[in-house]
Amino acid sequence: MDFASLAVLSGLPEHDPYHPVGVPIYATAAYGFTDLEDGAYKFATNQGYTYTRIQNPTVAALEARLAALESAVGAVCLASGQAASFATLLALVRSGDEIVASPGLFGGTVGLLNQVFGLMGIRVHFVEPEVEAVQAVLNEQTRAVFVEVLGNPSLQLPDLEGLARLCEERRVALVVDNTFGAVGALARPLEHGAHVVVHSLTKWASGHGSILGGAVLSRETPLWQHYPQFTNPDAQGKIPWEQFGARCFLERVRQLGLSLGGMVLSPFNAYLLFQGLETLELRIERACQNALTLARWLESQPQVAWVRYPGLPSDPAYPRAAQYLRGGFGSILTFGIRGGIEGTSRFLAHLRIIQAPNVGDARTLAVHPWTTTHSRIAEPARLAAGVRPEMIRLSVGLESPHDIQQMLAEGLQAVEWVSHED
Ligand SMILES: *Cc1c(COP(=O)(O)O)cnc(C)c1O
Repeated sequence: MDFASLAVLSGLPEHDPYHPVGVPIYATAAYGFTDLEDGAYKFATNQGYTYTRIQNPTVAALEARLAALESAVGAVCLASGQAASFATLLALVRSGDEIVASPGLFGGTVGLLNQVFGLMGIRVHFVEPEVEAVQAVLNEQTRAVFVEVLGNPSLQLPDLEGLARLCEERRVALVVDNTFGAVGALARPLEHGAHVVVHSLTKWASGHGSILGGAVLSRETPLWQHYPQFTNPDAQGKIPWEQFGARCFLERVRQLGLSLGGMVLSPFNAYLLFQGLETLELRIERACQNALTLARWLESQPQVAWVRYPGLPSDPAYPRAAQYLRGGFGSILTFGIRGGIEGTSRFLAHLRIIQAPNVGDARTLAVHPWTTTHSRIAEPARLAAGVRPEMIRLSVGLESPHDIQQMLAEGLQAVEWVSHED
């Protein structure tokens, strides 16, 4: 089935006595056992339901739908995108291991790597997500290469297939944060060789800026045979790779992130995410069209110094965007205001577009990354992440393009255009 059909049909309940057409919210913390054997079996195998920290039918339905949308072997949902990245890396590394990561990653991910994994004695190498740079720092201890499908706000696309080949050869997991790939509506890194994708479902999947959620998905792969945590006996004396095959990684994510870590997605949020996924492709289509229209219009405005949008053929990201994105070029664009930080400040003071640090909302949101989302990162690292003092990031929403353009024009009119190049 195609994405549009899977988005409304996959994951629906099969065994509910009332035959609901949609997915009910199972608001229950625990599930009963019929007898000693039933309870013992469920605890021994993790089959069926025992307690919502481990598994919940509403959340399980969402996991099935997400796995279908990206042709994954399975999915584990968590409380947020941060929780998804955290649990993924916890499942992949042990003390003394190393991670290679792109310097342009989401700020929260950089913080997680430096402040949490750094404290745990895991060494992190930040290098550009290109084959040669990654190859130069890979070694026997490397357990994960972590990149984003589309850098935020750098709008850089990594060489996914090149990195996948390298990681396959060196038996290292390629983990792609596919939040900007909108759960497969725009990008499907697993089909290009990534072993794992993580998502912040808070963004396009939810689509309404209303809740937080995250997910981890993986594909069929023999890679896990080369990780001691999957080939050594676990606490119950079982070998995860033998017990679960390619799903052993996701089982570890569930164990560490949910069962023990408690970073659980609420079934109410899972229900809202189900609603979000059903209109995802339509929303993405509209938002991408809006973004392209606005990118072209912004390019012609005298107060705008530069525009970055992967869908502009002149954009440095265009060739890879054309290779890896489907159905559009995303709904994020960035542009620079002339007159430096002063011009930018005037622009934002007169802008009626909502200023908020989120993306993928139904509403268009503007943000000045230099002083907000990336302000806690040291200046050189900020520049390396592609952030500039005059940069505005726009997450284009579903309004009429004419109205968004009008609101941007009001901000631009307030910028005293300095005629010299800056
Ligand atoms: C928002 C975001 C995250 C973190 O997700 P939360 O749901 O806010 O925890 C991770 N990666 C990317 C690319 C994001 O945009």
